[in-house]
Amino acid sequence: MSGDVPATVHAIYDEVLRRNPGETEFHQAVREVLESLAVVLDRHSEYTEMKTVERICEPERQVIFRVPWQDDRGEVWINRGFRVEFNSALGPYKGGLRFHPSVNLGIVKFLGFEQIFKNALTGMPIGGGKGGSDFDPKGRSDAEVMRFCQSFMTELYRHLGEYTDVPAGDIGVGAREIGYLFGQYKRITNRYESGVLTGKGLGWGGALVRTEATGYGAAFFAEAMMDVRGESFDGKRVVVSGSGNVAVYGIEKVHQLGGTAVACSDSSGYVVDDAGIDLDLLKQVKEVERGRISDYAERRGSASFVAGGSIWDVPCDVAIPSATQNELDGDAAAVLARNGCRYVVEGANMPATPTAVKALREAGVAFAPGKAANAGGVATSALEMQQNASRDRWTFEHSETRLAEIMRDIHTRCHETAEEYGSPGDLVLGANVAGFIQVAEAVHAHGLI
Ligand code: NDP
Repeated sequence: MSGDVPATVHAIYDEVLRRNPGETEFHQAVREVLESLAVVLDRHSEYTEMKTVERICEPERQVIFRVPWQDDRGEVWINRGFRVEFNSALGPYKGGLRFHPSVNLGIVKFLGFEQIFKNALTGMPIGGGKGGSDFDPKGRSDAEVMRFCQSFMTELYRHLGEYTDVPAGDIGVGAREIGYLFGQYKRITNRYESGVLTGKGLGWGGALVRTEATGYGAAFFAEAMMDVRGESFDGKRVVVSGSGNVAVYGIEKVHQLGGTAVACSDSSGYVVDDAGIDLDLLKQVKEVERGRISDYAERRGSASFVAGGSIWDVPCDVAIPSATQNELDGDAAAVLARNGCRYVVEGANMPATPTAVKALREAGVAFAPGKAANAGGVATSALEMQQNASRDRWTFEHSETRLAEIMRDIHTRCHETAEEYGSPGDLVLGANVAGFIQVAEAVHAHGLI
């Protein structure tokens, strides 16, 4: 923790380390927020007296469960399911489910912790939670994924509800998985409770723009950052890591706003396409065929595939890391800055390591943390809940306009809070402080619970 952080904050962090051993991603996420909070605790002694920070660092409830299922050959598998209901001061727990072999309690807790402040920044009435499983959907048939989802929901349903806890997708959980999860929830509860999950199919309660929202939102956020510097996406070279939901729609909006995305990736490597990523082909390969990014390069003359390696070696003006946590380290950040990159906008959750964030700051690169820049997904999930509650359905244009407004508002809030607390331009501090104060005030209002 940096030297100018007061002893109270150090003590809180030490206690988090002691109580949550081995959960390195959770430690990292907590530390990053705590480092921003010294200035808040100086102004609000009541947060220290009432142990508000300590309370927010402790999840309200954590559920870990067994998920048994059978593959197509009849072999039995046992996975582990998680749901961390972190904070409900602002509304029902809200946050996605991640299916990926790397999922463990520490990762779910880091994601849930981030989600509290992200959801607060949206200005919508949603608390923070996250869940998932170490199940790997890659290479599994639809029937296998369905059986897994049914088993997962058979335990999870008792913890959910439109006023209690409302999951959505994340890595490895898209419309297909949400469909199977919703079907099983409906079957067990005998309730058509649309508002219990978001990211639903458009024909059965889903909302337009939810699929696009996180990627579009990150691009809108980047546009707002450029705007305060008198710039725009026009003519900018953009590198977007990943090729999943966030990356694909981030690229789509970058192109619509006048930029050119020239590289994207998956866990096997990256493609460089100086002519600009062909979005129709990318969607065909990744969304329709569930193929690899190397398949894109094979079918596109202007593209080349680099196995392994670092996508951050590709020179660009704007980088939007949109794959996973800690994918951009200090060395990669230094390369980006040296090659002229001026903006790094986190599409994923915590993709930049603390060393990377420091290196970017020192090099004068404008940096947006995920809890602000990727909040468009959850904000649009809240819009989906609104439409479900009122049995209404908004047009694409209306929903996109709302999303753009929300992202601009989040940027303004982070920007102004950073100025108010003496760190102009520091969107990390702005996001942490603005999100924290909103949650802390609600926590106070509810008494000691
Ligand atoms: P997807 O599963 O749709 O796509 C993830 C992409 O990242 C894939 O291209 C995947 O490649 C790659 N990836 C995942 N894990 C790794 C890894 N360990 N190393 C290298 N590449 C990896 O997920 P999303 O696009 O939904 O999510 C991406 C990020 O955005 C996550 O951090 C998520 O938490 C965050 N996010 C998502 C939101 C949403 O609405 N979907 C909302 C807010 C944040 P491969 O296929 O090879 O694994």
